[in-house]
Amino acid sequence: MSFNNRRKPRTYTYRIHLDDSKALRTIRVYDALHDDYLISTLHRSRVPTAKNGRHFGYVFYQSKEQYDYNRDEMIGGAIPGLGDRRYSLEWETFPSDSSLEMKPASKGGTRIKGERFLGTGDPRLSDYVPIDTVVPQTPTEIRAAYRDETDVMDEIETELHWAEQDGFDQLIAEQWEGFQNCSHGHVIETGNKWEPAYCEDCGYNWERDGWEREKDDVTVVGEA
Ligand SMILES: [Zn+2]
Repeated sequence: MSFNNRRKPRTYTYRIHLDDSKALRTIRVYDALHDDYLISTLHRSRVPTAKNGRHFGYVFYQSKEQYDYNRDEMIGGAIPGLGDRRYSLEWETFPSDSSLEMKPASKGGTRIKGERFLGTGDPRLSDYVPIDTVVPQTPTEIRAAYRDETDVMDEIETELHWAEQDGFDQLIAEQWEGFQNCSHGHVIETGNKWEPAYCEDCGYNWERDGWEREKDDVTVVGEA
């Protein structure tokens, strides 16, 4: 490979929660034991969306690729196993809602990601639903639409409303998956005629008929 057509070294940014001990350990191991890796913490002031509140409890790391002249190849860069913790510094705070971020989408338009408060009213569900959608406007067009409060702003708000519904469906699906995968090992009997029992582990409530059918398959540990 000649010097001229060598690609530029890339910098990989990671956003890692302070409780994510597995990822933090991976960072430490690559930083300390692999000479190929050049890893540094990224100060929050250099994260464009740092003030929007979505990053509470997170730390940012950067891993820079370097060119190794002896081996004539790029070394370091992407850290194995942390692909889903990658974070793009292209994200900017969405104009009407600081719990959302936006950046140019890979196939045109803008990707909007984050969460929105829905207030599901169900104590077993999060009050925030995940949002992940793409709109055809560019980030510049979105900023202008919200600044001037145009019809395009209404279109985007409608799109976000549908994205909220998708996010809610996703929460319900995850909850149902939680019920299915739970062995219901800590079930409490309520003494209530219509909802006689619930599981402390997954939050599933049995209605009367279902309880009659399933009560022999679960572990009752107490009464409420
Ligand atoms: Zn359960």
